[in-house]
Amino acid sequence: MRFPPCGLQQVLLTYGDPRGFHDNQALWEETILRYLSVPPGMFLWLGQSVRTIRVHNLAAPSFGQVVHTLAHNGVSGIEYGGTYNFRLNRNNPNQLSTHTWGIAIDLNPTKCPNGSNPNFQDVRLIAAFREAQFVWGGTWAHPDPMHFQLAEGI
Ligand SMILES: [Zn+2]
Repeated sequence: MRFPPCGLQQVLLTYGDPRGFHDNQALWEETILRYLSVPPGMFLWLGQSVRTIRVHNLAAPSFGQVVHTLAHNGVSGIEYGGTYNFRLNRNNPNQLSTHTWGIAIDLNPTKCPNGSNPNFQDVRLIAAFREAQFVWGGTWAHPDPMHFQLAEGI
């Protein structure tokens, strides 16, 4: 199967099916997620350094590659908006958000909110995530420029 997966069926097959876990999210989290360390100062949450991000086991190497690239390029002070979050897709409430699988991250949410002009996102982030095969929400018909995910067509 191709990686990253394309479409809901491939995402479910690759990353697991969260739909039975609405009432037991702790079990879902234990099953699929791990913590990944982030260098101090790279991502900031309310002005504080984010020490770890919580991502899918299978997405962790790709997130790690991005973090390594950003560190190598001296990128720091990026506003963090979250990774794992068991919730519906804000642009399509009939679907789960890719954040539910821990395969998505939001960065610079204040400057680049859902629905905003993609031109304001940091090009160093766009390049680093693209290199690691993430899809950038800034390319979508309804742009979500803070959003990067390790899946296509969903
Ligand atoms: Zn997002």
